[in-house]
Amino acid sequence: MSEADLSGPASAAAAGGPFVEHDLPCLACGYNLRGLALAGLCPECAAPVTRSRAGNLLKNREPGWVGRVALGLRLVAVAFTICVSLLVVGLLMLRVGMIMSGRGDG
Ligand SMILES: [Zn+2]
Repeated sequence: MSEADLSGPASAAAAGGPFVEHDLPCLACGYNLRGLALAGLCPECAAPVTRSRAGNLLKNREPGWVGRVALGLRLVAVAFTICVSLLVVGLLMLRVGMIMSGRGDG
């Protein structure tokens, strides 16, 4: 008998706590957490079972990390807006330059 068998459904049920009743891959390593106690850890990587059960959604992530991701996305949006604005201004200046030089008619 391997050591992993000690953390199976029988031991979780014997511990009296709730356990994972369906196939649930560990978010960190992919190990199937079925039968493990919800309060336990993944036997492969020691990640909390509750983290995998909560899912890989932003609402379940650390608020500080989500805030940093949001800031990064805002910065990307600002940079994109500046680039498009500069492109439009450049094209307008090119068009005005062509009109002023008499080559903008056609
Ligand atoms: Zn794991």
